Amino acid sequence: MDNAESEILEGGCTCGAVRYLMNSKPMFVHCCHCTWCQRETGSAFALNAMIESDRVELLEGQPEVIDTPSLSGKRQKIARCPQCYVALWSNYSGAGDGIRFVRVGTLDQSERISPDVHIYISTKFPWVELPGDIAAFDEFYKPREQWPEESRERFRVAKSQGKA
Ligand SMILES: [Zn+2]
Ligand SMILES: [Zn+2]
Repeated sequence: MDNAESEILEGGCTCGAVRYLMNSKPMFVHCCHCTWCQRETGSAFALNAMIESDRVELLEGQPEVIDTPSLSGKRQKIARCPQCYVALWSNYSGAGDGIRFVRVGTLDQSERISPDVHIYISTKFPWVELPGDIAAFDEFYKPREQWPEESRERFRVAKSQGKA
């Protein structure tokens, strides 16, 4: 199986000091239009692929984890390259340490991941037009109603492991 067909995706920061791979497809992918993501990225939205922490393998380097305020007030831990400080993934308190939100734009083949849901579109930039065939919510949503059964099971397992 070559890389174009496998589910394995490699990624890294912009200076190359940190390299990682995701060894399976993510559980679910958020395109978040909240003002926090806009500020943190300096852009219109953030693209976050939710995946078990143990399915993200470091190939090179060691990210520095920065404790950062978050919309929920519970804070998030953003893993950044210690040299160029590009953000690679986050852990949110709500989901726990067993689950990472990988910044899709840091993947070498980021075009292979597309959002499963658009969230916080109440603060979406007016010139961003959403496709009609993907669920979109003014704020957050009920995962139970959107995630496929396989993803719900994966999340349950990862969350319980993160607490252990
Ligand atoms: Zn770097
Ligand atoms: Zn957001």
